[in-house]
Amino acid sequence: MTSKPTVLGPAPSAPAEVALRDLATADSLLLALDFDGVLAPLQDDPSTSRMVPESASAIAALAELPRTRVALVSGRDIATLRRLSEAPGSAWLIGSHGAEAELGSDAARDPDSAVIRSPELAPAEAEMLAAIEAHLDAFEHTLPGADERPGAAAATTGAGAATTGSAATNGASDSGSADGPSDFLIERKPYSRTVHTRGLAPEAAAALHEHATEVAEEFPDIRVIEGHDITELAVKQATKGDGIRLLARAGEPTAMGYIGDDVTDEDAFAALDELTNSRALSTGLTVKVGSAPTRASWRIADPAAVAELLGRLVAERTEFLRTVRG
Ligand SMILES: [Mg+2]
Repeated sequence: MTSKPTVLGPAPSAPAEVALRDLATADSLLLALDFDGVLAPLQDDPSTSRMVPESASAIAALAELPRTRVALVSGRDIATLRRLSEAPGSAWLIGSHGAEAELGSDAARDPDSAVIRSPELAPAEAEMLAAIEAHLDAFEHTLPGADERPGAAAATTGAGAATTGSAATNGASDSGSADGPSDFLIERKPYSRTVHTRGLAPEAAAALHEHATEVAEEFPDIRVIEGHDITELAVKQATKGDGIRLLARAGEPTAMGYIGDDVTDEDAFAALDELTNSRALSTGLTVKVGSAPTRASWRIADPAAVAELLGRLVAERTEFLRTVRG
């Protein structure tokens, strides 16, 4: 269960100040990263998110290093995350807030060879997802100009595909242009629907959030996830903390780092702290991006700062590995 941190957390640091030595010199390093707001700047249209080029280069470099693995941990479904991130093939992916995983470098080419976990919807979960869909759809059609909105038909098609659990046909459905209070995006994912309100007037965003969450009153098992300009209604209970624990079990690293920017990343920070405190890891480094309260140990400003931090890690880890081999 995601809970907002009760402490404000650390003061901001410059990327050059973050203590990377224990990660750079680890026997075996697994660096896990959130995508939106960390590697990719947040966008009004979530289908246009792309990694900052310097971060993409740094991740590609890290993924090439021995005893070093990169993982992305996102609320996006795996198929969308793989497509938008253009992550190296060897990168492991955790999607749908921990409900989905793709562990294995050959996953994209040969599904049988990889460890892929993308569970079916249980009947009760499918019923909840259908209720969410109907609830959001009813609201969409009450909006001014609903019939003329170009995305309406596509959204309905996407919904049918999504309820069968097929990730490949999902994605953000554009339910309108971005210049009116009634416009919003509903992202259809295998286990959830995400209402994006970025760019809306605050009152319109609040009304939309309030409407969206009403369905959870009827179905208390629906997980309401609130993030940066999103309200997500999910039918699986997995969190990014579950994703971190899975990565630790599968990769057996001696050190892990995690960088995240949103409330849901607090579960990942907490899981990493637990793994470190229980000595399953010798080092766990947690870095928050942005100004919100956090339980992470470090705080940096934005995706540009992340790119700088990753560049440092590439340089320090490369140097360390050269030293121990030489
Ligand atoms: Mg994020």
